[in-house]
Amino acid sequence: MSELIVPQSEIERQYRIAESLKPVITGKKACVITFGCQQNESDSERIAGALALCGYEITPKSEDADLIIINTCAVREHAEIRALSEAGQFKNRKESDRDLKIGMCGCMVQQSHRRQQIYKSYPYVDFVFGTDMHHRVPEMIETMLTAKKRFSFVSDEPHNEFGVVSEDMPILRESSYKAWVSAMYGCDNFCTYCVVPRARGRERSRSADKILYEVKGLVDQGYKDITLLGQNVNSYKGGCGFAELLDKAASFDGEYRVRFMTSHPKDASSELVDVMAYNPKVAKHFHLPVQSGSDRILKAMNRRYSRAQYIEKALEIKEKVPDAALTTDVICGFPGETDEDFDMTLSLVKEIGFDMIFTFIYSPRKDTPAEKMPQVPRADSNRRFAELSKVENDIAQKINESYIGKTVRVLSDGVNKNGAFCGRSTQNKIVTFDKFIEPGEFADVEITSAGGYALAGIIK
Ligand code: SAH
Ligand code: SF4
Repeated sequence: MSELIVPQSEIERQYRIAESLKPVITGKKACVITFGCQQNESDSERIAGALALCGYEITPKSEDADLIIINTCAVREHAEIRALSEAGQFKNRKESDRDLKIGMCGCMVQQSHRRQQIYKSYPYVDFVFGTDMHHRVPEMIETMLTAKKRFSFVSDEPHNEFGVVSEDMPILRESSYKAWVSAMYGCDNFCTYCVVPRARGRERSRSADKILYEVKGLVDQGYKDITLLGQNVNSYKGGCGFAELLDKAASFDGEYRVRFMTSHPKDASSELVDVMAYNPKVAKHFHLPVQSGSDRILKAMNRRYSRAQYIEKALEIKEKVPDAALTTDVICGFPGETDEDFDMTLSLVKEIGFDMIFTFIYSPRKDTPAEKMPQVPRADSNRRFAELSKVENDIAQKINESYIGKTVRVLSDGVNKNGAFCGRSTQNKIVTFDKFIEPGEFADVEITSAGGYALAGIIK
């Protein structure tokens, strides 16, 4: 692991560069636009932290910014198209404002065919950088100010043989009470449909000491909801197992919750379920992506667990932590999926009863094995998507109705975009209520009604 850690001397060099840039940068504004998952949101907070270190004021408004960074996602084609069209929006502005600088980063940029596309078709993008280059943002800004040409900071290691762990760079967090904490980066699982191992590099863990120090610091600052992040947290190897790390992260003084994302069913351990059951600061929410209920499809996906093993794990969670929410991901229309395979997914969904399903239509990803398999007609995928959504809505409605009359502890998010007072329960369920509670404060809410997506109640 040690060769992956960026040396302290390199981090100090970045700090020195940032310091030297301050006189030139101060007064300028930067905006980071984020697509994709929690890991990307977390990366954007690190990019913003490094930009602020260089002297930029961070703004959410791209129209005010002198520098715009687009942090992209590649997990499905739709996300890539959205990021590219976002970049396209700045074409005209760049023509009239030569001083505007545009950078692109994230999983899409990590793929060489997309970098070529950006290079050819998006000439107004000044620079691109990869998913393991965030600690070098100060150096990039220095290059941006002096370079006559467009440039790229992307590791040239082949395949997924890249990736570092960098510590001690600043993080500019969006929220003052919810925080992402990376436990590990990358993925070595190579599910046959997935671009992540190629886009995020080899699996690597941060040391438990560094993670716990960060969590303790956040709790001391008043953070109330902390999520430990990793593509497959159960393969965490930073000095202890993930269950122990989670338990320790959830053992500091004060009222707060610790969540984690994501656990792979093939190695979600019983110890992890036990920690959730006995540690009251571990949020009662298990996200366990199943992807399919058919053994044939699970094998073709290289998921390395069977339907029976998945069901056993899900039932263990339900039995040991009866108040936990269980959520999952399902892909509809994976290559070769027949109606019979999909029926197996439907029957698994009905048997388990998930609180929520994130349903995706399979999207072929370049250079993945599944891309070369026989594809399912789009109409079939769409039909299955609609059918699963309908089945799940009824299940979620019933589960949520079982909360009526109960009291749940809610962490307030203030007011949502519809003007309702809202927050999240330990299960991560959205709860709306009758009085304003300061964002980041806890309150007890008696649930009086429920829909498929949210609960509603009154403050006790
Ligand atoms: N590491 C996480 C998942 C990260 S990607 C895990 O293994 O659980 C998040 C979700 O996107 C996956 O669970 C999967 O359901 C979906 N996904 C990934 N690649 C996809 C593709 N090519 N097409 C459709 N959905 C995909
Ligand atoms: Fe992708 Fe599978 Fe890794 Fe999740 S575990 S990121 S789905 S390869």
